[in-house]
Amino acid sequence: MRGAVLYAPGDVRVEERDAPKIIEPTDAIIRMSATCVCGSDLWSYRGINPVTEPAPIGHEYCGIVEEVGRAVTSIKPGQFVIGSFFASDNTCPNCQAGYQSSCQHKEFVGGAQAGRLRVPLADGTLVATPEVPSDDLIPSLLTLSDVMGTGWFAADAAHVKPGRTVAVVGDGAVGLLGVLSARQMGAERIIAMSRHQSRQKLAREFGATDIVTERGDEGVARIKDLTRGIGADAVLECVGTQESMMQAIRSTRPGGSVGYVGVPHGVELNGEELFYAHVHLHGGPAPVRRFLPDLIDRVWDGKINPGKVFDLTLPLDQVAEGYRAMDQRRAIKTLLRP
Ligand SMILES: [Zn+2]
Repeated sequence: MRGAVLYAPGDVRVEERDAPKIIEPTDAIIRMSATCVCGSDLWSYRGINPVTEPAPIGHEYCGIVEEVGRAVTSIKPGQFVIGSFFASDNTCPNCQAGYQSSCQHKEFVGGAQAGRLRVPLADGTLVATPEVPSDDLIPSLLTLSDVMGTGWFAADAAHVKPGRTVAVVGDGAVGLLGVLSARQMGAERIIAMSRHQSRQKLAREFGATDIVTERGDEGVARIKDLTRGIGADAVLECVGTQESMMQAIRSTRPGGSVGYVGVPHGVELNGEELFYAHVHLHGGPAPVRRFLPDLIDRVWDGKINPGKVFDLTLPLDQVAEGYRAMDQRRAIKTLLRP
């Protein structure tokens, strides 16, 4: 089968790889309908995460089940399924508490930018759609594998509720879908922080009521201006840098909440500043599995169309251009068709 391999920073290629096989009796093999490039793949692509040897890449997936191991009971060949980038048993105490990305048996699902994928713990990890979807639903269903689930978790972790004022730091696909999530959860005012016109436009389509183009201390000052000097009730941090994290914390009102889902790179928090800020902090790798059934229903019923974040669609063989376009911020997110 064809699959993407990251050789070195800036060097991603599609090559012939061995097709995955059932290894554990709890595995499933799926034939990918679509996959995509994640903002977090760019950390490796840019060499910020070290690349020591050629490695298959990609962790967002949806497709048709081809084969299941003998211990798999609920997932069946022929079903269209979506799963998280962390496989989980969905039965251990952490899963039961809704933190499947901290499952006691979690396994990272990698190498998804390919024609086929092995998914461990299939019964716990995969969720089937009511039927095999029509082609136009596939981009939105694919986002539920990570990016939409992550935006949703940011809003959930920041306690977004009807009537609240929300600020979103980061205008990548996760931030934009954080805006959509906050709208779905009934936020009254949603301030998107973005300096790119095409992203501002999509943020507005997804429900943003205000746009702030300033960053850092100036960005914080603008949020304060817009909130009678106190800060937002809920702030979604969707970047993972020192600047974005401090921008999020300082934009939050005392008693408010920050939901942080940007993978931190070099972020360090000052205990004393945190002590006096009086904000709730909650985040981490999104427990996407918790939200899958509800988000599948919302896409299936046409209530949300998160697939709009894909502004570039390429055949898998052109994966290199997909990464370049996102690296240069010419594309918000690249969908790949195997
Ligand atoms: Zn578990």
